[in-house]
Order: sequence, then structure tokens, then C-alpha cells
Amino acid sequence: MEMKKWFAVIGDPIAHSKSPSMHNAWFDDMNIDAAYIPLHVKGEALEMAVASLKTLGASGWNVTIPHKQTILPFLDELDSLAEKMGAVNTVVRLPDGRLKGYNTDGAGFVHSLEEVIGMDKKDQEVLLIGAGGAARGIAFALQQYGYHKITITNRTVAKAEEIIAELGEGEAVSTRDAEDSLNKFGIVIQSTSAGLANSEFKMPLSLEKLREGAIAADIVYNPLMTPFLISAQQKGAEAVNGLGMFVHQGAIAFNYWLGQYPNTNNMIKRLTDDLNQLV
Ligand code: NAP
Repeated sequence: MEMKKWFAVIGDPIAHSKSPSMHNAWFDDMNIDAAYIPLHVKGEALEMAVASLKTLGASGWNVTIPHKQTILPFLDELDSLAEKMGAVNTVVRLPDGRLKGYNTDGAGFVHSLEEVIGMDKKDQEVLLIGAGGAARGIAFALQQYGYHKITITNRTVAKAEEIIAELGEGEAVSTRDAEDSLNKFGIVIQSTSAGLANSEFKMPLSLEKLREGAIAADIVYNPLMTPFLISAQQKGAEAVNGLGMFVHQGAIAFNYWLGQYPNTNNMIKRLTDDLNQLV
């Protein structure tokens, strides 16, 4: 008999993660005999945790803060995008037992964006606000999916310059320059921690000059409507919230593990209801 498959998410903290309920709901919906559990792993325990997951037969797992970069030395192989990003959020146990790392965060964002705006807007000027770990993944994925007019702005401009140098195209600009030239962008992506529930940091820049009809996407999804999205809608932009990115990064991981793409629309609806009940 085939052994039951099991999966996990490792991180610190981990209790808040919505990944277990999302993946377990997909297993139920799709009649897959598998389980997905949260595992609290501290930094110093990471190497032993990876060895244990391997020994105990996990088929794969997700990796979240603070292990996305530090797990690299413990993996046998990296997907090319994960290698470029220097960060892994998904591990797959290959049939021969070796561990391969992927990063599905950036592609998850692009899938969620294209689910709303379609695949025919790749010629638009894109402004990416933020140059942290999430921004990095999004920048490489945008390029891989055919978006080549990318401008990155960040409080610390040097970090935006670094990503642009690695992309080999696009430009890095100051917050002030981004604000002044805002009307040239058809797609504006908010990828800093601005607007997170209970945070003092609300807006990464002024949307005074945002173009009417522009697409404004935020990756923060708690709350679903961030100050950035509210302000963008007031300027006549179309808002894309961050929940789709979360659901699609999970769906792409699920597909790497099981070879099937789960239903993302139903999951986005389900989690939207959950999040709305919190407010
Ligand atoms: P990170 O690596 O810590 O980067 C944080 C970013 O926010 C940097 O660009 C940083 O600018 C900027 N920032 C922070 N405080 C600021 C302030 N007071 N003023 C101006 N800029 C500030 O974090 P990350 O991993 O990229 O994640 C960013 C957010 O994305 C998280 O809070 C999380 O909510 C969200 N996220 C969502 C998903 C999803 O699935 N939807 C996935 C991943 C992350 P500096 O470089 O100048 O410090």
C-alpha cells in the first residue's frame, strides 16, 4: 500500500499561518489522502529539522520567515528562479530522495495579477514599490513572465538599485521621483509592509499623480483593503489585493508536489470570508 503523503510549513513564528488550513481544504476537496501540518522551527534547529523531515518521509514542505535564505545550504538542488532569488519557499522531495528548492512567491503574485488583469498588459510600465524579499521575487517573476518595463522605488534606494542590476534592465528611482512620475505607470505594485494591521507605517508614497484606470496591486492582505488600495481606488485605479498572491504561491507549490493545480478561486473566496470576519 502506498504510504499517506504528508507536507508541512516550517517557520518562526508559525501559529498564524493560513497554509495548513488552505492545503488541507484542497486535499479534502480533491479527495487526496494527505496531511499538512505547521511546524515551529527556530533558526538554530533548521538543519536538524530538514534532516528530520527527510528521515520521516515528508513529500515536501513550505518554508517561511526566517528560513527562506538560510535553508539553501541544506538542499541538494535549486530551481533556476529560486537560485536567482537566493530564497526558497517550497521544497520538493524528488523520486530519488534528493531535496529540490523552489520559490513560488513571485510567480504566485504574477498569476494572481493576471487572473484579474489578463495576460495582455505586459507592455505596461510597472512601478514596484519596495525592495525587500517579496519585491525581489516579484521582480524576477515579472521579468520571467514577460514584463520588461520595470521601475523599482524603495526608501533605501540602494536596495532597489541592487535588484535592477541583477535583472539587467529597468531603473531604480527615489520615492520622490516615483511620486513625480507616477502617471506614467499602468501597473503599480505595493510590496512593502505598509498598511499591515497594527502597523504605524501606512503609505509608502503619495498617490497624488496616479493615473485613472491604472492597476494598483498590494501584497499585504491583512487587512484586505490597505490604505494604499483605498487611496488608489479613490484616484480611479483598479485594486488587486494580496490574498491572490498567497493562494497562488500555495497552488504552485501544491502543483509541484502533486502534479495538479487546485481551485484558487474558491480558496480566495473562502479566505476572503474568513478575513472579513476578523474586521
Ligand atoms: P522585508 O524584506 O522586510 O522588506 C520590507 C520592505 O518594506 C522594504 O522595502 C522596506 O524598505 C520597506 N519598509 C519597511 N518599513 C518601512 C518604512 N517605515 N518606510 C518605508 N519603507 C519601509 O519584507 P518582505 O518579506 O519583502 O515582505 C513585505 C510584506 O509583504 C510583508 O509585510 C507581508 O505582509 C507581505 N507579503 C505578502 C505575501 C503574500 O503572499 N501576499 C508574501 C510575502 C510577503 P527598506 O529597504 O528601506 O527597509
